[in-house]
Amino acid sequence: MSRLIAPLGLIALVALVACSPSPDARTDAPPPATDLVLETIMTHALADTFALDALRELCDVVGPRLAGSEGMRRAHAWAERRLREAGADTIWREPVTVPRWERGVEWARLVHPYEAPLTMLGLGLSVGTGGVLEAEVLAVRDWDELEARRDEVPGKIVVFDPPWRSYGYNVDYRSNAASRAAAHGAVAALIRPAGFGQNTPHTGVMRYADDHPRIPAASLTEEGAARLHRLSDRGLRPRVALSMEARVLEDGPCANVIGELRGRERPEEIVLIAGHLDAWDTGDGAHDDGAGCVIMLAALETLDDLGLRPRRTIRVVLYTSEEYGGQGGRSYAERHAGAIDRHVLALESDAGCYAPAGFSVRADSTAIARLAPYAAPLARLGADSVYAGWAGVDIGPLVERGVLGVGHRVHNDGYFALHHGPADVFEAVDPEDLAANVATVAAFVYAVADSPATLPIPEAD
Ligand SMILES: [Zn+2]
Repeated sequence: MSRLIAPLGLIALVALVACSPSPDARTDAPPPATDLVLETIMTHALADTFALDALRELCDVVGPRLAGSEGMRRAHAWAERRLREAGADTIWREPVTVPRWERGVEWARLVHPYEAPLTMLGLGLSVGTGGVLEAEVLAVRDWDELEARRDEVPGKIVVFDPPWRSYGYNVDYRSNAASRAAAHGAVAALIRPAGFGQNTPHTGVMRYADDHPRIPAASLTEEGAARLHRLSDRGLRPRVALSMEARVLEDGPCANVIGELRGRERPEEIVLIAGHLDAWDTGDGAHDDGAGCVIMLAALETLDDLGLRPRRTIRVVLYTSEEYGGQGGRSYAERHAGAIDRHVLALESDAGCYAPAGFSVRADSTAIARLAPYAAPLARLGADSVYAGWAGVDIGPLVERGVLGVGHRVHNDGYFALHHGPADVFEAVDPEDLAANVATVAAFVYAVADSPATLPIPEAD
């Protein structure tokens, strides 16, 4: 851990903030002196390497970390050690029961009208093929075409080739392709991925409807799905061989890992900052969501390095099983149901690690206007925008119970080229972006946690 000696000027500033407006004053704006402390926080975070070192270790040493797996147990030990190094006063685990799944060896080949490899990734929680499954392909563009051609489906591998419109639009195919194809008698479902990139498949969770057979499901690449679609349109009746050892295991034990820096004045009030520690097994999970986790750890470490202890408690929650459906997030909200009103804000980073863009808030314009001053000092990082939008999967159950939910936003236009795929590796994270995100989160969270204003910021008058 790099520990800087707090400069005398900073000590003076902290003293100034500590003596600034009375803690009970009802004011919506952070005190002006805080801006100077925030500058120091940002400068320190931009030069610090804690986050990069932690991310490298998570990617290289901990390795793949599906919820409920042995890798996730290594990740828990890593997280606890890193929380200690970041200066957390208290560190604990909260048990969560999670789905468990193993990928095993998997491959696909075009076997007619010629032999050629097909790059693929089995979808999370898919069943396996139980040996090699070979069948003719029926390629369709969307649900409407599937329904129109339902009589052609029995015995086929249905290839879904919807255009890339948005993650939300395409995830519908990833989630439901298997059961909707199985409803008409398909033996497997292959999809154009919920993502793009150069001949890149993208995994992600899928689900089975209760009333249809459970058939294997996998992502092809955009190019692979398009080729099968073209061959099919030419009337060449392509055939594919598919082999997936995937196994759905019984639900099993896992945990959220939590650490906190106790507030100096209102320790019972919690500013929760979060990422999810589980990740797909296809790359390093560096962007999704290793970076989100280390940003939160490093934000805590930055404050600890500078000897800053805000009025309120900052609680880092590293959730499990976001990827399988958010079991960690629901478990936390249920366990802490009696303390919801003590959570003054929840911030999640889970949109990739790119240049900071600000914060999106699941609230009305009044709350957004009141939160904006806390981000205003981050203009030098390009992180001062506060706007309505998505907060995060893991903190969603808290938001539904009334906690102000905030998403850490980044300029992630290229994210879905590597999201849930083999290219989401350590090298794909720009160290400067990572440091800028630590600076963003550390400064914003300090501003909120140290605010003398009464929080939570009310949704409306
Ligand atoms: Zn994620």
